[in-house]
Amino acid sequence: MRQVTILGATGSIGLSTLDVIRRHPDRFAIYALTANSRDEDMARLCLEFRPRFAVMADHDAATRLQAALAGRAETRVLAGEDGLCEVAAAPEADTVMAAIVGGAGLPPTLAAVRAGKRVLLANKEALVMSGRLFMDAVASSGAELLPIDSEHNAIFQCLPPSRVRNLNGDGVRRILLTASGGPFRTHSAAALREVSPAEACAHPNWSMGQKISVDSATLMNKGLEMIEACWLFNARPDQIEVHVHPESIIHSMVEYVDGSVLAQLGSPDMRTPIANGLAWPERIESGVAPLDLFALGRFHFERPDLERFPCLRLAAEAFRAGGTAPALLNAANEVAVAAFLGGKLGFSDIPLIIERTLSAMTVRDADSFDTIFAEDMAARRMAAEQIERALV
Ligand code: NAD
Ligand code: MG
Repeated sequence: MRQVTILGATGSIGLSTLDVIRRHPDRFAIYALTANSRDEDMARLCLEFRPRFAVMADHDAATRLQAALAGRAETRVLAGEDGLCEVAAAPEADTVMAAIVGGAGLPPTLAAVRAGKRVLLANKEALVMSGRLFMDAVASSGAELLPIDSEHNAIFQCLPPSRVRNLNGDGVRRILLTASGGPFRTHSAAALREVSPAEACAHPNWSMGQKISVDSATLMNKGLEMIEACWLFNARPDQIEVHVHPESIIHSMVEYVDGSVLAQLGSPDMRTPIANGLAWPERIESGVAPLDLFALGRFHFERPDLERFPCLRLAAEAFRAGGTAPALLNAANEVAVAAFLGGKLGFSDIPLIIERTLSAMTVRDADSFDTIFAEDMAARRMAAEQIERALV
């Protein structure tokens, strides 16, 4: 029986994970669930899954959850980042789903890595921020890092098992990273300036949290995923080519030197990669409907347009710059996306704020996690300042 901790249980990935787990009570038990502030959703999940621990990052939400669960001794309520890290590293759990959104997920995800867990990585921002340091922590603890991002899970499935940490060898040539293109794939630059947060969050194929929905619309998500793939599979950026594939059925491909291209296909439903990670190397039912290729009929592919979607270029440049640059990029993006969602910033201003933040800051050596956390904070302050300036 696997004992599972879900970081970010109330989110889109968290709930999909619970949906898979609900189908396999003989295989998985919930050790801990965590969330930020939605205590009512968490109370409901606690009543159903009876975790040993429930953690709310927000202290007031933890107090409310404690009151809601009063008299139910099976679940202990913890609060704050310490609580998140404690359940992520607890010896009783063997599997940790890292599904917090953004940089807030790095400390508990890292705690799970350092404790040598099977870590199911959805929280790509954690890896983008800390890159080499994160992968070194995986190597030294012996953690089993399995990619949940659909593209990376597809690549993982298409690589030879001996090459899932380093694609160089065994005839692997490169990765074809697919992208839906987002809801504004065919918008003109002028039309992009006018789009609303609600339109940006209405993804044509995937149902996801708000932040990643906006990232998909700007193509920053694909930029973050390019960086994620470089670290996960020890790939160089020139070994990865983004292919816009609006149907989102091919989740990515691996090209071999003999001309073979292996692809992983499936309905756009995160329960497939989640089930793959939970049960790996076995296969289990996920609840995802079988693919009906006759109903789909056709697949399309096009190149991404870096003029209309500069975030992809900014991410590639940050990866090339190295050091703390990807952490700065990620922080600035989080702040800009939050401002866009809050109605303070236009959609096309997101890349401008990121670019201005990066050019106002110095890229340092990413020599420790302390450096990463400090630079992340500094970039958030700088991005907020750039937004204020853009508004006057
Ligand atoms: P979401 O917004 O739906 O859920 C986020 C979860 O994180 C919630 O449970 C929330 O309570 C928790 N959280 C938010 N801020 C927190 C904080 N400061 N401290 C502690 N917990 C906090 O997001 P999502 O769409 O489920 O995405 C989660 C992660 O998975 C992201 O990194 C995203 O890029 C990645 N991902 C998501 C999808 C998808 O289909 N949704 C696909 C691939 C990758
Ligand atoms: Mg993805």
